[in-house]
Amino acid sequence: MDDTVFALSTPVGGAIALMRISGAGSRALLERIFTGRIEHRRVSYGRIVDGAGETLDVCSAVWFEAPNSYTGEDMAEISIHGSYAVAARLAELIASTGAARPADPGEFTKRAYLNGKMDLAQAEAVMDLIASTAERSRRAAARQLEGGLSSIVSSYYGRLKRVCARLAAAMDDDTDEIEAGDASEELSALERELEALAEGGLRSRVLREGARIAIIGSPNVGKSSLLNALIMRDRAIVTPIPGTTRDTVEEAASIDGVPVVFIDTAGIRDTRDEVELIGIERSKRASGEADLILWLIEGSREIGRGDEDIRASVDAGKTLAVITKSDLEQVVFPDAGGRIGGIPAVTVSSITGEGLDELRRAIVKRLAPSDSEAVVTNTRHITALRGAAERISAAAALQQDGLGDAAFFELREAMESLASITGRSDAAEDLVDEIFGSFCVGK
Ligand code: GDP
Repeated sequence: MDDTVFALSTPVGGAIALMRISGAGSRALLERIFTGRIEHRRVSYGRIVDGAGETLDVCSAVWFEAPNSYTGEDMAEISIHGSYAVAARLAELIASTGAARPADPGEFTKRAYLNGKMDLAQAEAVMDLIASTAERSRRAAARQLEGGLSSIVSSYYGRLKRVCARLAAAMDDDTDEIEAGDASEELSALERELEALAEGGLRSRVLREGARIAIIGSPNVGKSSLLNALIMRDRAIVTPIPGTTRDTVEEAASIDGVPVVFIDTAGIRDTRDEVELIGIERSKRASGEADLILWLIEGSREIGRGDEDIRASVDAGKTLAVITKSDLEQVVFPDAGGRIGGIPAVTVSSITGEGLDELRRAIVKRLAPSDSEAVVTNTRHITALRGAAERISAAAALQQDGLGDAAFFELREAMESLASITGRSDAAEDLVDEIFGSFCVGK
């Protein structure tokens, strides 16, 4: 960590690009290549000059003195003109001084973590914020970066620690049974609350990964038209992602701020595929893979055998019925409870746009976690919370059996598990390289 490192923190090709330098040698390096004044947190204007005195760029730079910088080290941020030529020459110039080396992926944020500027959960939130494509994902990541999750975890950690202390005291004094009794109530409360937090996390996972939606239905029912209308595009497949199996194509989009992935869209776009699979096989597959299934039925045609078969092949619990082509004369209507075949239904027209807002709302209602649920979005954190809850439950059982020592051990493990979320435990050190390795360079 003694090295001074540098990296371009922005993609090249914009008007401005940002070169970051961090480490003890940053000041000397900046003085050597930049002609402007160097003062803590001051934006100064100057020229970047190479060893031969040639001007590379005319630009501004900000100098941050340790520990008041992003990484907690001496740091410089140089805003250069954003061309590849300028960025490449500046990187060459910095490297040629021998005073700094190119930063590894995520190294700036890793240094910020190691220098105590943020904890592990906050560092992970930096990555989520950079990756966020939808408004709700951004909101959850920003809250985590602010320390929302960290403070919740630390309050649970504190409660566990107090239970441990109480148990330790009860163990020392075997006449004091009331203390241990209190502890078991607190233990079951802790277990319940941590489980609930992890449950909310499972629902919130969609904010990081995108909720997987499948659109199924008989040929010509209007699947392709609905997909286009929902993602407001007329042209097919703008951001195709190759799916896991042959022929599958996925498309990422955002519906009212919730990131979604439409799965198996090749089956929708490609009519040959549709004939081949007649919907049923696709529906079964979608039923397994999707978080939500949109089962389309044509409103202007009686429900047929094919529609029924498709309906029977999916998990009704995660299905929303969509009655299409409401601009045509309708023969299919939802029942008094707004359902078709027991499944909640929305009526839409992809041509006039009628019902699409209602459908979007219904989709979001099904998939989006509430703000209070969206505290945990990361699988690593969910696993740690679950792990802690399991240890606590084991501890409670051991405690009941009078095995205080063993219960105590389980609680220490539960504390470790919680602490791994923010990186306050030894075990967390092993995770550091893994977490920061998946960042991009310059962060
Ligand atoms: P898919 O085979 O299920 O993907 O169905 P398509 O989206 O290709 O649509 C089949 C036919 O129905 C096309 O001719 C569409 O123009 C038409 N269609 C789709 N949605 C609507 C709608 O809301 N109203 C009307 N009137 N026609 C529609």
